[in-house]
Amino acid sequence: MSLDIMKQLQKVIPKERVSTNETIRKQHSRDESFHPPNLPDVVVCPKTTNEISDLMKIAYHSEIPVVPFGVGSGLEGQAIPLKGGISINFGQMNQILEINPDDLLVKVQPGVTRKELNKELGKHGLFFSVDPGADASIGGMVSTNASGTTAVKYGNMKENILDLEVVLSDGRVIRTGSKAKKSSSGYNLTELFVGSEGTLGVFSEITLKVYGIPESIVAGIALFPSVYDAAKATVAALSIGSSIARSDLIDALSIKQINQANGTNYKEGVTLFLEIHSHKSTMRHEVDMIKEIFEQNGCSHFEVGEDTKARAELWEMRHNLYYLYLHHNPGKTMMNTDVCVPISKTPQALEFARKVLEKSNLMGAVIGHIGDGNFHAGLIINPNDPSDMEMANNVNEQIVQHALKLGGSCTGEHGVGLGKMKYQKLQHGEALNIMKDIKIVLDPKNILNLGKIFEADRVI
Ligand SMILES: Cc1cc2nc3c(=O)[nH]c(=O)nc-3n(C[C@H](O)[C@H](O)[C@H](O)COP(=O)(O)OP(=O)(O)OC[C@H]3O[C@@H](n4cnc5c(N)ncnc54)[C@H](O)[C@@H]3O)c2cc1C
Repeated sequence: MSLDIMKQLQKVIPKERVSTNETIRKQHSRDESFHPPNLPDVVVCPKTTNEISDLMKIAYHSEIPVVPFGVGSGLEGQAIPLKGGISINFGQMNQILEINPDDLLVKVQPGVTRKELNKELGKHGLFFSVDPGADASIGGMVSTNASGTTAVKYGNMKENILDLEVVLSDGRVIRTGSKAKKSSSGYNLTELFVGSEGTLGVFSEITLKVYGIPESIVAGIALFPSVYDAAKATVAALSIGSSIARSDLIDALSIKQINQANGTNYKEGVTLFLEIHSHKSTMRHEVDMIKEIFEQNGCSHFEVGEDTKARAELWEMRHNLYYLYLHHNPGKTMMNTDVCVPISKTPQALEFARKVLEKSNLMGAVIGHIGDGNFHAGLIINPNDPSDMEMANNVNEQIVQHALKLGGSCTGEHGVGLGKMKYQKLQHGEALNIMKDIKIVLDPKNILNLGKIFEADRVI
């Protein structure tokens, strides 16, 4: 980065928030994925929309690559600055600007994290539903269209955003929505930007839908003979309109990791971690109904309870699984598949994934949010071992091809980033060219997170 550009940046953002420190650049060179890191030239920490706008004008004028950075919990390399340039850190844009219980909405700056937000909302009897497990930033979650365990009932990010303030690549600032619950006015720019992975604009304010905390919540486990049965039971329970709010499949290998790390003694079989949201007056009936349907589909053990601490511990164990696998396999990392299929096809997609994984020589888990058709094969790999990489890419490829044949998507929630770029043409066909046209309109100099979703030199 030239001295002149550094001087220009320091004119619009105070010096102490513009850093070329090696350690800070390293922190912004990677995310949680297996993709190799790359250093940005400089890390800037804006505090206001105006500061973002001013720095984008500098980047636009001098054609400097810009990559927004949330907390780096992405699993497809989205925040890696492939071409160096400026990494924008939103850690100092972490204000909750408005909590509005009457309109069931909240307006935040992009650096607020999911847990920080829910801590504040809880004081008002409210919660924000999207839960990817990691304590991701709201900006990052918008950008990857995150979802997670609760999407089965409350939907993903796309379904929970009312309005975005976006700084465009040339520094212009736009709003995409409103505070109204519905709007039929104009093109739906909000949905265009959700899931754009920092390639179309930088989010500076986000207005989200929130919900009242349910009167009654129960959580627990259900055991099944196979992943096929577990998926079939979930689909059957959902199709009669049950109030399942989370339904996560944990395979036997993953239960083993959980038992080892937590001293628990869950039976090492195919297990659903389950949560039901309802009213006190109807909860008993809901639970009985789900239990009955599960048992008709082979469930051999069903156990739920209202204990809040036990519930928190259950989901904590689920969310820590990724790190348990890393901890139990030193020097290795995990490649995650992330397909999503129509829910009725979940049983066969899961069974296919299980078989492909078993045939490969890789250690791996099949886990996921099967209530909405989204699941992951987590493949334990040594990223420096070409044969591991070849096997993992092959497993990934087969699972994606199968999901696409079933009418699904190569990624349900982690996003495209670097890992799912190669499936874009296959999944979208001609529509991919329209996406490129949109990219060119919004980012004509190709400076925003280049090399993600599309290959760096193939857009223009
Ligand atoms: C253990 C573990 C479990 C996970 N489980 C799930 C899961 O169940 N479901 C799920 O959906 N995800 C899951 N993830 C992935 C991850 O948490 C999400 O992708 C998350 O949405 C990324 O948020 P972040 O703040 O870490 O963003 P980063 O990783 O820092 O960035 C992600 C993308 O967002 C862009 N970005 C960040 N801020 C902005 C902004 N203000 N404006 C524009 N673009 C921006 C970046 O440029 C990048 O393209 C998991 C991750 C881990 C480590």
